[in-house]
Amino acid sequence: MELDSLYQEVILDHYKSPHHKGLSDQKDVQVHHKNPSCGDEVTLNLIMDGQTVKDVSWDGVGCSISMASVSVMSELIIGKSYEQALAIFDAFFELMQSKGQSSGDENLLEDGVAFAGVSKFPARIKCALLGWMAFKDASTQVME
Ligand code: ZN
Repeated sequence: MELDSLYQEVILDHYKSPHHKGLSDQKDVQVHHKNPSCGDEVTLNLIMDGQTVKDVSWDGVGCSISMASVSVMSELIIGKSYEQALAIFDAFFELMQSKGQSSGDENLLEDGVAFAGVSKFPARIKCALLGWMAFKDASTQVME
């Protein structure tokens, strides 16, 4: 798989120094998601404060794309409103379905645009989406 080298660096940085890794003691909900095709697994704790995403923490094992993506996602959505977090989720989900045709909304996705190239590799899209789907699942359980 070939990704733009700058983007590859962003992904490797998050893989080597993951943000918000290590599960919090408290949580509103905990979810565990797997991507069997690659062997990626993530456990995610979510704490909401009313309409605000107060904290996301996670632990997991898997490929660099899956782990870097959870790290980027946590960094992006902590402190955001539930509505903003869903807008960011939607933007990332759309990017992953773009088959390499979209470069992503940098205002919304920040480091998340580094995963744009992953959308060209159907087998890896599930890696990139793993943590995001876990967040979506957890937030839906708390909010709905
Ligand atoms: Zn993977």
